[in-house]
Parts: sequence; structure tokens; C-alpha cells
Amino acid sequence: MSEKTWGAAPYWGLGYDWDPDWVLTAEQQELRAKLIDLCESTLRANAKTSDDGLVYPRENLELLGSELGLLALTVPEEHGGLGQDHVCFAMVCETIARYGCASTAMCYVMHMGAVNAIMLRPTPELIDRYIRPLNEGKLGTLSYSDPETGSHFWYPISSGAERLPDGGFKVHKKASWTTSAGFADFYVVQTTSPDFSGYDDLSVFVVDAEDAEAKPATWDAMGLRGNQSGPLEVPSAELGADRIVGPVGDGAASNDESVDPWFLIGSSSVWNGLAMGAIDIAKRQTTRKRHADVGLRVADYPTIQDYVGEAIMDTNASRLFTLSVAQAMDEATDDNTKTLAVGEFARATFLHWSWQIKFIAAKNTAHVVDKMLHACGGTGYKRGDMELERYLRDAKAGWVMGPTNEVLRQFVGKAALLGFDALDYWNQTYNRRSVENEIKKLDAEGKRKLAEQLLAEAAAAETAAA
Ligand SMILES: Cc1cc2nc3c(=O)[nH]c(=O)nc-3n(C[C@H](O)[C@H](O)[C@H](O)COP(=O)(O)OP(=O)(O)OC[C@H]3O[C@@H](n4cnc5c(N)ncnc54)[C@H](O)[C@@H]3O)c2cc1C
Repeated sequence: MSEKTWGAAPYWGLGYDWDPDWVLTAEQQELRAKLIDLCESTLRANAKTSDDGLVYPRENLELLGSELGLLALTVPEEHGGLGQDHVCFAMVCETIARYGCASTAMCYVMHMGAVNAIMLRPTPELIDRYIRPLNEGKLGTLSYSDPETGSHFWYPISSGAERLPDGGFKVHKKASWTTSAGFADFYVVQTTSPDFSGYDDLSVFVVDAEDAEAKPATWDAMGLRGNQSGPLEVPSAELGADRIVGPVGDGAASNDESVDPWFLIGSSSVWNGLAMGAIDIAKRQTTRKRHADVGLRVADYPTIQDYVGEAIMDTNASRLFTLSVAQAMDEATDDNTKTLAVGEFARATFLHWSWQIKFIAAKNTAHVVDKMLHACGGTGYKRGDMELERYLRDAKAGWVMGPTNEVLRQFVGKAALLGFDALDYWNQTYNRRSVENEIKKLDAEGKRKLAEQLLAEAAAAETAAA
């Protein structure tokens, strides 16, 4: 690979020697070089504008489509896309976050999440309406998190759908967070199914911007300030039968096979990109700053070299972990070309690996940006041209974005110790051990009262079901 450049000059951060390029094809490396150029010419300058003024990075996102075709990166070529794979998606998300703008990168992850949710169950109508126009600047996003269930974004209590006589659906949805809320052209939403039988019975719909209400003016956050990840409401949208994605009840499969895998690869790559970007900034600063008294640059101190060395090794471990899971998904889907029938799974086999890459990437980025701040000293702490404090604030979103790192380590530890069924996403499995332990604490009178209450509840349920 030739030298990494920044406009007409050599890149001031780490060169390609420190990028695991053996995972990329020559075509993907070329795409990355063009993307770095776009970051240099426009995306990075806009990152400051977005951060300073909470400005949605629409121009950046549109340029990704018009200049490089990236708004349809993973869409097959016959539908106007680049036909790229999971590894390429990871590279693109990482590159935008590292050299360009983290808010743009996260809006892009959500956009591609929405696109890939549709492409899991493509129909001619959905392709014509949402997929073909993508590179003209048509933007989508995922609207899942529910105000009543917080981090448990797979549990949409404040939503619903009913059948209409013409075969269509009437959909309502409340989302507590939606990246690009009020700016996207379409929203992929998950609701409980019509005639739903329990919270694992979910369906996926595409809702146009005119049917959704957002309040962009209320968005303000520590980092990712261009994201506009505020609340969204779909009060009551009447949708044609062609606006459901997959069959009724396909929501859980859509999560496991598309939404979660693509989101977790994309977001992990954003966190990895931010960590690399912070190391780049630290290199720029510490190799340029000189202490006149001892005649040394900051980068000449072994302490600083240790900081940077450890940060590179930890971040490259995280990058290679993410890329390895992306490669596994590429292999399982014949490089993202396989059409999966309803009930057939490929990416979902690696879901528990996707949880791990997100946990590691989010944990690593928070640590690395902090250490790079230490390496740059007080100068790194200042707002302005250094940009390190923006990387630090943006990276902080990694841990708290769903699935949060608390939830992920629970998932992994619980599934490893007790089996996957113990995860009980939709709170449906009776935990006899806990119940019996609590009942032991009751005296005879307490037990009698509880028994009476349960008998009354059972009778009421039977009457309601009759
Ligand atoms: C910048 C940003 C962008 C976002 N964009 C989107 C988007 O585009 N679409 C979307 O659908 N959502 C989005 N989200 C929402 C995100 O997915 C989470 O739902 C949200 O961050 C959870 O926040 P909360 O305040 O509701 O957390 P709470 O649920 O109140 O969590 C509080 C604490 O409890 C912990 N906790 C919660 N449940 C458990 C558990 N079961 N076990 C252990 N600990 C637990 C949490 O980890 C956290 O530490 C975004 C979030 C952020 C920060």
C-alpha cells in the first residue's frame, strides 16, 4: 500500500503500517484511501461545526452517497449498491470515525442498519421506494429504544400495530432515542405484532418521515452532538401492505439476523476508529511539542511511548476482534450475497461474538482516549484545533449506547454459566428458584394471602380467556 496522505501532505498520524490491511481487498483499500481524502477535504471540518452547534451532518452523509456510493455500500449492485461485505462495512465505519466525524459515522451505522434490515427481506416495492434512491441522499435510521424499557431496546412496550381492511397496517410507536430523528427520510421501526401473543411477537415496518414526529430542538448531549438522537413518535401511521419488512412476527429474527449483527459490527468499528483517531492526534501533538530546557520532544519520553504503545496494541486487538467476527459473517453469507429464507440464519450464529466485540471496543475506546489525553497534557484538555477533547466526549457514548456494556457483560456471563435460554429477553421464563426463595420468607398468614391472591388471579385469567 502506498503512503497514507492527508491532502497533498503525508498523514500526520499513524501510517498504514499500523492498520491490519491483510483483511482488506485491494478494492477496499482503494475505497478507504478515497474516503480518507473526503474526510480531509470536508467531513472533518464539518465535525467541528456539528459538535459546536448540534448540527445534523446531512452534508457529510450526502457526500458519502454522491461521492463514493457508500449510502448503499452493502446493497447488491443490481439494486444500485456497491455489493460490499461485512469487513468493508467495518472499514468504512472505522474510517469515517477516525479521520472524519464520529457523529456522521454513527448516523451512517444507523442508516446502514435500516438499509440492511430492509435487505434481509427485500421486495420489489421496498427496493424501489427505499433502496434505489439511497445514493441520491435518501437517509434511513433505526428507531427501536422504548421509553418504558430503557436499555432493553428489544422490548417495545409503547408500540403496536393493527391490521387494516385493505391488507395494510396501522402502526404506532414511541421511541426514546433515535439517531437522525427529525432528519431521516425513513425510519425502520419495531412494534408488537398485530394480534400479538407476547413480547417476542414483533414486527418490522418502514415509516416515512411525514408520519413521524421528532423534536430536534431538545437534543443536547456530551458527545456525538451532531447525531440528533432524540425521541421519536409515530402517533398513527396507516401503511400499505408493502411497508412491512418480512412477515408478521419476523421481528425477533430480524434482530438476530440483521439489526444486531450489523449494528454491533458498525458501532464497534466506530469506537475502534475513535481510539485510533485519538492515537493519531497524540502522535501529532507529542512529536511536535518540544521542551526547550531538555531539548526533547514530548514523544521522546519513554512514558509517552509506553502510553502510545499500549494504546496501539489494545486497539489493534479490538480492531482485529471486530474484523474477525465480520469475516465470519462474510463466510457464512458468501460475502454478503446469500439470500436467506424466513427461518434461515447465518449472521445470528455469531451474535454472542458480536456482543463481545462491542463490549471490548467501547471499553477500549474510553480507556485509550483518556490515556491519549494524559499523553498530550493540558493542551489536550483544551477545546480548539487539537480536537482530542471532542474524541473523548464522542467515545464516551460507546459504553452507554445499547446494548450497554452492563447489559452485554450480563448476557455473556449469564449465557456462559446458565445457557442462552436463561437470558429470557422478554421476561417470559418463570424463575422457580427465586420465587421459592422469596416464599420461604413468608409466615403461614403471608403464604395463605399470597395463595388466595394467586387463585383469584388464575380465575380472572381463565374467565378472560374463555
Ligand atoms: C448517542 C446515543 C444514540 C442512540 N441512538 C439510538 C438509535 O438510533 N436508536 C435506538 O433505538 N436507540 C438509540 N440509543 C439508545 C440506546 O440504545 C439505549 O437504549 C440507551 O442508551 C439506554 O439509555 P437509558 O437512559 O434508557 O438507560 P437505562 O435503561 O435507564 O440504564 C441505566 C443503567 O442500568 C443499566 N442496565 C439496564 N438494564 C440492565 C440489565 N438488564 N442488566 C444490567 N444493567 C442494566 C444500564 O446499562 C445503565 O448502566 C442511543 C443512545 C445514545 C447514548
